[in-house]
Amino acid sequence: MTTIVLGAGVVGTATAWYLTKAGHDVILIERQSEAAMETSWGNGGIIHASEVEPWSQPGMPGKIIKWLGKEDAPLLLRYGAIPHMFRWGIAFAQNCTPERFRANALSNLHLALHSLKSLQEISAETGILYDRGTRGVLKIYRSAQSLENAQRGADYLAPHGLLYERVTPDRCVELEPALKDTRSTLAGGLYFARDEVGDSNKFGQGLAAACASRGVQCRFGETIDRIETANGRVLAVVTDKGRIDADTVVVALGSFTAPMLAKIGIRVPIYPVKGVSITFERGGWNSAPNLPVIDDSKIFGFVAIGDRMRVSGSAEISGYDTTPAMTRAQAIIDNASFTFPELKHNLDLSKARVWAGLRPVSPAGTPIIGETRFRGLWINAGHGHLGWTLSCGSGRVAADLITGRDPGIPLPPSQGVVSRAV
Ligand SMILES: Cc1cc2nc3c(=O)[nH]c(=O)nc-3n(C[C@H](O)[C@H](O)[C@H](O)COP(=O)(O)OP(=O)(O)OC[C@H]3O[C@@H](n4cnc5c(N)ncnc54)[C@H](O)[C@@H]3O)c2cc1C
Repeated sequence: MTTIVLGAGVVGTATAWYLTKAGHDVILIERQSEAAMETSWGNGGIIHASEVEPWSQPGMPGKIIKWLGKEDAPLLLRYGAIPHMFRWGIAFAQNCTPERFRANALSNLHLALHSLKSLQEISAETGILYDRGTRGVLKIYRSAQSLENAQRGADYLAPHGLLYERVTPDRCVELEPALKDTRSTLAGGLYFARDEVGDSNKFGQGLAAACASRGVQCRFGETIDRIETANGRVLAVVTDKGRIDADTVVVALGSFTAPMLAKIGIRVPIYPVKGVSITFERGGWNSAPNLPVIDDSKIFGFVAIGDRMRVSGSAEISGYDTTPAMTRAQAIIDNASFTFPELKHNLDLSKARVWAGLRPVSPAGTPIIGETRFRGLWINAGHGHLGWTLSCGSGRVAADLITGRDPGIPLPPSQGVVSRAV
């Protein structure tokens, strides 16, 4: 029984791992020469087991319209993208009611906790080194109102397993002394002790190697052209190197899932939202932040990953181009320098890696995991801003469903794509 996984980002690689453990003969196909080289390369690195709220939330459609065309907006919708994402936009707006938002956040929480446990089990079993950090994550707020709103959201999820501590500005500085310069601007923070950080590129590559050593055929440097179906079921995958028969195919192509499945008439509501990160060596910056910090009002994440520092942010809806706009990168650096003024003296942009990746965002802000209307053709994609967080759990859930096992957690909504009822 041959199972082909399309795409070796963190999601596809985790899917291949759990499928091989379940006894499938797995082929993993990836166009890059290694795993995790596209969106899974330079993300913020945070395992947000506690920060699971979708972007489709009450008030967001109005904000996006207000920000239209503004270069420095936190979420920039470019006019040119609008005609291509009309349906997606309507579905996104429909998910912004308080009820849908809460249900989607809860769905992500179940998957995130399952995923964190799965990630920890995989790293214990394989010994993959991925610059794991376990000091928790601090989110800082500059207005009492936004802190109250965030606490309300956390209180809603707390009975379902979310752990958090509300902290004062002084406690923020105690937790991360590099916040001392911005102390007077803070209203407080939420500290998520259980959240972790790690390099998803290193993890993805380590996991691909572990998959290969268990017999997964990793076909890297091979571009998938199309999927063949007949009589309501999947038949084969056609690549630039030939045709491969398959009993089961899992599409884990991130943002490229939608155009690939559109070729066989499946409309998948996943749209790319470009983000930017800047990675540089810590070098002699001894007082650099050690605790991962997310700044709610300036909208960036600042994380030490091993001996590198990474600052990430920006959301830009502009199609599939992955060129990082320097205006967006500069806005992130300016915002981060407000919070951490020493950054200005420690970041040499000519030596930093400015990177952009496409978050595969679904209207509900939850991934799409399940079987399509073609028997044997599965999808595991649409993890948006939470793909590193949700990757191991999603791979495990997909493999369980394919193998006919109960995944043991409530499943994310079907979003009209997979045959399972919500
Ligand atoms: C700036 C930024 C910050 C982020 N921060 C975080 C964070 O802190 N925490 C978090 O949890 N998530 C974060 N994310 C989101 C996370 O990075 C993504 O959700 C995740 O990487 C998606 O993984 P994936 O495997 O679905 O997609 P990808 O990593 O994009 O993998 C898809 C793979 O499919 C391959 N592929 C595509 N088309 C073809 C084809 N035709 N043939 C062969 N191969 C193909 C690609 O090469 C790619 O390797 C962030 C994202 C960005 C952009």
